[in-house]
Amino acid sequence: MIYDVIVIGVGGMGSATVYHLARRGAKVLGLEQFDIPHDRGSSHGVNRIIRLAYAEDPRYVPLLRRAYELWREIESAVNERLLFITGGIDAGTRDSATVAGSLRSCTLHHIPHELLDAPASARRFPGYRLAEDMVAVYQPDGGFVLAERSIEAYVTAARALGADVQARERVLEWEAGGAGVRVWTGRGSYRAGALVVTAGPWTAEMLPNLAPLLTPERQVLMWSQPRRPEYFALDVFPVFNMETPEGRFYGFPVYGVPGFKIGKYHHLYQRADPNRMDRECHPEDEKALRDAVRRYFPDANGPTIALKTCLFTNTPDEHFVIDHHSEFPQVCMAAGFSGHGFKFCSVIGEIMAELALERATRWDISLFHMHRLLD
Ligand SMILES: Cc1cc2nc3c(=O)[nH]c(=O)nc-3n(C[C@H](O)[C@H](O)[C@H](O)COP(=O)(O)OP(=O)(O)OC[C@H]3O[C@@H](n4cnc5c(N)ncnc54)[C@H](O)[C@@H]3O)c2cc1C
Repeated sequence: MIYDVIVIGVGGMGSATVYHLARRGAKVLGLEQFDIPHDRGSSHGVNRIIRLAYAEDPRYVPLLRRAYELWREIESAVNERLLFITGGIDAGTRDSATVAGSLRSCTLHHIPHELLDAPASARRFPGYRLAEDMVAVYQPDGGFVLAERSIEAYVTAARALGADVQARERVLEWEAGGAGVRVWTGRGSYRAGALVVTAGPWTAEMLPNLAPLLTPERQVLMWSQPRRPEYFALDVFPVFNMETPEGRFYGFPVYGVPGFKIGKYHHLYQRADPNRMDRECHPEDEKALRDAVRRYFPDANGPTIALKTCLFTNTPDEHFVIDHHSEFPQVCMAAGFSGHGFKFCSVIGEIMAELALERATRWDISLFHMHRLLD
C-alpha cells in the first residue's frame, strides 16, 4: 500500500500528528522504534504543565489557545480526562524574565491574572513559601496534561480512524524522490506521498543537517512525599514555573505518583546522546531538586518517592523548529522543543497534518522556521 503520509516517531508530537492526519481522511503510517508509550524519550513521567501566560514569548499565545481547544477535542474523542486545570503560578523577582514575560503575555493577550506578593501567595496557596523579594503571577487557566495517557489516547483515536501504527520498528533511512518518499525500517520498506519527522531527541539521526541546531540534554524529575499532603492536593496547589537564584524550577500537585513533583530546567547542564544517556539517578541529581523543595516548598520536603530521567532537545534560542525540509517540500519536521513543547502537542499535530497534506498551515509558525538559526 502507498500511504499519503508516514510519520517517524510516535511520541508526543508524532501521536498527535498521526491522529490529525487520520482525522483529515489521510492514509497514514506511524512508525515508532520503541513501545508506545515508552520512557526513553521526552514524553514520560505522568504529566506536563500547560499555561496560557507564556513567559517565553507572547507569540505562543494563539497556539496555546488552540492547544487547549484541541486537548478538549481529543478528550471527547476517547472519553477520558487528559487536561487538568489547577491554576498556574509564574514566580520570580518582579523584573525576572519569568514574571516580566508572563505579565507581558497577559497584557498583550488580555489574559486574566493576579499579581501576588510572597505573603499573599502563601496565604492563598499554603504549599508555597516564596522568598521575600519574589512575586507570583497567578493565572487560573494553568494546569497539566497527562503525558503517556495522551499518547495512548491519540494512537487509540487514530487507529479508530484507520491509521496504521507500528511500534518496535525503527526507521533506518529515508529517501525523497519525485513527488514522494520511501522509508526503510528493520522490517521492510514503505512508500508515501509525504514524510513527517517527529523523532524528538533522535531527530538528527533522521535529519543530519539539523544536528548543529539540536542539543539533547539529560533531565531529572523528582517526586517527594509531602509532610502536609493537604497543601499539595490537586484542587489546592497550582502548577508553577519559578525563577530563583538557584535556577528555574517547575512543579505539580500530587497526581499519579504519590508525591509532589519538581524538576529544574537544564538540571545539571548535561548534553546527552539519547542512545547512551545515563538513565540512572544519582545523589547529585536529587540534591539539585531537594534544595529547592526545602527552601520554597518546605511542607513537601518528605522522603523521596521517585526519580526519573528524561530528555530535552534544545535549540540555540529555545524556540521550536517546525518547517519543511530545505530540499524536499514533501518532507517536514517538528523538533527542538527545548523543554516546553508537550502542552503544544495537540496543536502541533494539527499544524504537521496541514504541512504534510497542504504544504502550508493556517497558523503563524514564522517563529519556528529553521532559517532563523542557520542565517
Ligand atoms: C523532564 C521534562 C519535563 C518537561 N516538562 C514540560 C512541561 O511541563 N510542559 C511542556 O509543555 N513540556 C515539557 N517538557 C517538554 C516536552 O515533554 C517535550 O517537548 C515533548 O515531550 C517532545 O515530544 P517529541 O514528540 O518531540 O519527543 P518524544 O516524545 O521523545 O518522541 C519522539 C519519538 O520518536 C521516536 N523515534 C526516534 N527516532 C526514531 C526512528 N528512527 N524510528 C522510529 N521511531 C523513532 C522515539 O522513540 C520517540 O518515541 C518536558 C520535558 C522533560 C524531559
